[in-house]
Amino acid sequence: MGWGDEIMAAGQARVRQGTDPRKVAVTDAAGRIRWHSAWRGNPRIATPIEAERGDVQRHMNGPGCRPYVDYARMRREFARVYPGRPFTTKVSDARLPWRFTDWRAERGEIYGRKAAPRGEVVVVEPHLKGGASPNKQWGWDRWQDLVSRVDVPWVQLGPPGTRVLDGVRHVATVSFLDACAVLSGARGAVLPEGGLHHAAAALGIPAVVIFGGRSSPANLGYQGHVNLFDPANGASPCGQTVPCAHCARALAGITPADVAQHLETLL
Ligand SMILES: [Zn+2]
Repeated sequence: MGWGDEIMAAGQARVRQGTDPRKVAVTDAAGRIRWHSAWRGNPRIATPIEAERGDVQRHMNGPGCRPYVDYARMRREFARVYPGRPFTTKVSDARLPWRFTDWRAERGEIYGRKAAPRGEVVVVEPHLKGGASPNKQWGWDRWQDLVSRVDVPWVQLGPPGTRVLDGVRHVATVSFLDACAVLSGARGAVLPEGGLHHAAAALGIPAVVIFGGRSSPANLGYQGHVNLFDPANGASPCGQTVPCAHCARALAGITPADVAQHLETLL
């Protein structure tokens, strides 16, 4: 969890200001004011200093209190598997998947970046951030197959040294906000479920988002994106943190040809 979560918090701040014009102070589960670089320049979110001085509305969203996570159910399941141990979400155990509420993300906002004019490039992101669930990884060969099918100026972001797909230009970015600056000038994007797809929604960039079966667009997807989710087990995402055969099947069911077609429709 990281930038995606904090961009979603910015979306909540935007929605809250629709009914209450005061700045939003984001707090952790204990009620302490939080701050994150994702909110730099965001006129809706109170900095810790503003929160201390001003008349603000408080909104809880942080580690251990994300709106889309059903912590109560996860606590019960954890207590069954590890009786007597203090609850944590940091255990990789097939018996302890993430569980989700029915909350759905609303478009966030990103202010602290250089604005780029809208261009022709299409951003592709075959990598996951470190620590992400392996069940979000579509697979290098599928990403490569995809870019060979669509004749657009593909661009990949990330720090110098990033492994780049054949036929894709690397634009080196050293921070997430750098990546957002490039993304904001893109014609479209194909992304795994993660921080960049939340950023694409916030920046109004059309995107095809590869969900697979681990998490659902009913929580983390945006209208206006093509969200490819194939739970194969009904409507619910499995939430698995360990490699999952069901997710592998779900990801295999999303073919490069389908993704290419969705992208062409979006552009
Ligand atoms: Zn799965």
